[in-house]
Parts: sequence; C-alpha cells; structure tokens
Amino acid sequence: MGSYFAQCKTTFYCYDQNSVWAAADAGVRRHIDYTCLMFERDYMIIMDSDELKAWHEVGHATVCLHLGGDLDRIEFLEGNSQGFAVARGCYVMPDKERSVACGGFAAEFYLLQAGDIDGVDLNDPKDVAEVSARVFSNAWKDHQDFIGRTVTEDNDFTKEEKEEFMNYAIIRVAPIFDLYFSRMKLVVSELLAARSIEGLRMRELL
Ligand SMILES: [Zn+2]
Repeated sequence: MGSYFAQCKTTFYCYDQNSVWAAADAGVRRHIDYTCLMFERDYMIIMDSDELKAWHEVGHATVCLHLGGDLDRIEFLEGNSQGFAVARGCYVMPDKERSVACGGFAAEFYLLQAGDIDGVDLNDPKDVAEVSARVFSNAWKDHQDFIGRTVTEDNDFTKEEKEEFMNYAIIRVAPIFDLYFSRMKLVVSELLAARSIEGLRMRELL
C-alpha cells in the first residue's frame, strides 16, 4: 500500500497540472482517474494542522447553513501564532444554536470515524483517549456555549456535560455531514488556499 500511495501521489500532482489532460490519451486518462480515486481514499489529515482547523470551522458553518442560518465568512486569523480560524456571523434561530456549537467537534469526530486523521489507530484505546482529549480541547469554547456556562479551573466540565455534548455532536449533528462531505472538502481547500471564504461562496459550493 505504501508504494502504491506514493505512486498515487505522483500521479495526482501530474493530474493537477492541467497539461496532462491535453497530452493524455483515453487509456492514460482512465488510469489517472483511477489513481485519483485511490488517492482520495488515502485522504489524510494531520492532527493540529491548519487543515483540521479548517474542517472544524467548516463543520460549524455547514451545520449553520443546513439549519437555514446565515454566515458572513470563515477566515484564518493572520498574525495569530496558534493559527486560529473562525466562522464569523454564523446566525441561526436560538433553538438551533446548540447544534451549531457542536459542528466543529462533530466534523473532527466525523473525520476520525472515517479514518481520515493520520496516525490514529481507532482500535488502540490509548490513541483514542489521546485524540478525544485533543478534539474536546479544540471545542473548549464551543462546549461552554453548548452548556451555557463558563468553566473555570475549579469548576470544570462535569462528566455529564461532556457526555451530553459528545452524544449530541455524534448522534444529532455528525449525520448532517453525510449530505455534504464531498462538497465540504471543496470548501476546505478553498479556505486553505485563500485563507478565507465568504458565506455566499460556501453556500454556492455546498
Ligand atoms: Zn469551534
């Protein structure tokens, strides 16, 4: 699989430079399509990368648009050493705010479950514990919005609050991404390339 993946990668880069289309005969073209499909299956995201941050924000924004809300834009905060991204002007009716708050966590969970996060073995309890702690910490602010209170060092999230947030994200929110997943990938690539994407453009892509 390793060498095949390397081969796919090479082919994918060739494919990316449009010149291949002009030169390729039908046979080669089929081969390219096939290897690109294989490459798609090997789609891997690195923990803590900008790409994962983009997915987190696109998760919030997708849930927001799906529930009939509005979105100004998603953007990376340039000059921020931690490379934070934000979804701005995500407005939904109050009864739907909890779903939008779960959107980032749910998107990260969705990728994990699909095996799309690099270096995480879902059959290894230690890996799963580590990665779930990271995903929870990425949603630290969202989780507080969800439960409607501010946590402090002496008044941290309770076990019940963690379970409620996680179950809501997994059961109620993550299935929404089944409807949009391939188009969310397009949104993520545009966001990564331009460092921001307008709400209208995202609506168009979805
Ligand atoms: Zn978030």
